[in-house]
Amino acid sequence: MILDRRSLLVSAAALAACSAPAAKAAPDKYAASPWRKLTEADWKARLPPASFDVLRQEGTEQPFTSPLNNEHRHGTFVCLGCGLALFKSEWKFDSHTGWPSFWTEIPGALAKKADFQLIEERTEYHCAQCLGHQGHVFNDGPKPTGLRYCDNGAALKFIPA
Ligand SMILES: [Zn+2]
Repeated sequence: MILDRRSLLVSAAALAACSAPAAKAAPDKYAASPWRKLTEADWKARLPPASFDVLRQEGTEQPFTSPLNNEHRHGTFVCLGCGLALFKSEWKFDSHTGWPSFWTEIPGALAKKADFQLIEERTEYHCAQCLGHQGHVFNDGPKPTGLRYCDNGAALKFIPA
């Protein structure tokens, strides 16, 4: 069965609402963003194939392939799809996984949903503005958060400070 991204997000929101009735959903400040109006054909025309695969198809790049693994300059990692700032360079660490990894995010830059594609549940996260898939967040990261945002270099662009 093929579900489109919108129905997946809606069902994830419904699940969250069921499991946490007291929690108020954060307002979607990018709901009217022009980036949300692009069709998949528009994205395909705009993005390199590897980036389209990650951002729009929730693909995962091959580990140890992204030049951003070795990006150690001071700056900001932004969404390759829409340019929204997601991570600062000082939050990047070498997770030895082969994917660019961070221990926290710029507040409000990412939205998350449960991902049941593997047997074990993972938390998928995506750009809050264009909804492009970025990666998954795990609980085995370093201090101070203990989080590991496992990103895909093909979904990011580095802007040196
Ligand atoms: Zn984006």
